[in-house]
Formats: sequence, structure tokens, C-alpha cells
Amino acid sequence: NGARTPLIAGNWKMNLDHLQAVAFVQKLHWTLKDAKHDEDSVEVAVFPPFTDLRTVQTLLDADKIPFALGGQDLSTKDSGAYTGEISGAFLSKLDCGYVIIGHSERREYHAETDEIVAAKVQAALRHGLVPVICVGETAEDLDKHGASAVPVSQLKAALENVPASAEVVVAYEPVWAIGSGQAATAEQAQDVCAKLRDVLAAELDADAAARTRILYGGSVKAANIAGFMRQPDVDGALVGGASLLIDEFSSIIRYQK
Ligand code: PEP
Repeated sequence: NGARTPLIAGNWKMNLDHLQAVAFVQKLHWTLKDAKHDEDSVEVAVFPPFTDLRTVQTLLDADKIPFALGGQDLSTKDSGAYTGEISGAFLSKLDCGYVIIGHSERREYHAETDEIVAAKVQAALRHGLVPVICVGETAEDLDKHGASAVPVSQLKAALENVPASAEVVVAYEPVWAIGSGQAATAEQAQDVCAKLRDVLAAELDADAAARTRILYGGSVKAANIAGFMRQPDVDGALVGGASLLIDEFSSIIRYQK
């Protein structure tokens, strides 16, 4: 996976208000600087709540902090009478490069179907955002169909009408591993990520499969990140709980050390 820049992404979920967000990002930046972290070796992205985006954007810009910024969701629509929704246009204007789409918590608590996920991917691309497409099987899916069947079908659905030239990121997140402390093994993650890369080749093309980053997510921590990153088809991590802990997250980012 030498040609693909590793991506370590922190999904804050509904944590840290805009003041806590500033303190957190500053501290993370200084911790990495103190550790003499090579900024070019790994891309770091943070996904704060919507209400933090403006403040975090201002801080990243003012202090030249080299983290990418992303939203945790977006609307399928671009503007209009959709109370409570956030347009991809707004995220773009706040210098978001990424947006998480189809996180299992959105699929579970907000009834997001594969069709909605596909429409959100289209909305992201319309506004120049890179969708971080989350796929993964529940424990029940794993029992009934094995690990890869559900993520493969979710990814196929999400890629409908996506041009081969589009930049997307895929995140394989087994639902049973999210927030459970029980991560998949590096071998399990590799097995499914390789199958997801085959989906990219079939639905987009060989070049897209070769250049697209596939992340693993689910109870990633400093102690297990290196094993995932050694896998040929794992290009980074989507980190939830551990992304809120400065020392833990900075150790994850510095997994090569
Ligand atoms: C997530 O929600 O994307 C996630 C991977 O969470 P955690 O790291 O806490 O398992």
C-alpha cells in the first residue's frame, strides 16, 4: 500500500463542545510536535460535531495545524426546507475535505438505508467533499452470512453512480467491534478490506481500487494499530473512543514509532 498515504481519522461523535474542541486540537498538535512527528507520513483528520466546525477551522487556519477536517454526516439535499439538516455546501465552505457517511450509528438510530447512504455519497461529491463510506456487519450478520457479505453489498450500493475518477475513502467497521473494546484481528480486517478493494475494482476500475484508501475501524487503540497498518489492504483507521484521548490518539497517529 506504499502509494496510498495512510489516513488516521478521529470521529468525535457527540463529544466536545466548541471550547473543548479548541483546547483538544491545540493539545494534540503540540503533543505531535513535541514527539517530532513527521506530518507528511500520515494524514490526520478530525470529525467534530457540526457546531464545532467553525471554531476548529479557524484554529487550524490560524495556527497552520495540518489536520484535515470533516463532518460526521450531511444532508442528501443541497438547500431548502429541511429543518435541522446540514448541506454539503456548508461543510465545503468551512474547509471540510471529508464527510463520514453511513456510520453504523446513523444506520441504526436514524434508519439510514443503503439508498440514503448512496444519495449522501452523491451529495458529498457534488460539493467536492470526499465521502468516508462506512460499511460493516453486525454480530448477527457475522453469524448468518460471515464477515464480508454485508459490507460488500453495502459498498456496492454506496458506489452506485459514482464515477471511477471520484475520490472516496472506505471504512470497514464491524459493528460488533465499535465501542466494544473487542477489535477485529488484523487478519480479519485484511480479509474484508481485500474484498472491499475487489468491489472498488469491479464497480469503479482498477486504478480506483489501487488508489482508494480503505480504513479499519472498531476499538482501534495504540496497542493494536500497528498490526492493522501492517496489512496490505488496510490504509488507515477510523477511530472513535480513542480519538478523544490525546496521548492515545497521538500514539495511534505515530504507529510507526
Ligand atoms: C467508530 O465509531 O467509528 C469507532 C470505530 O468507534 P470506536 O473506535 O470507539 O470503536
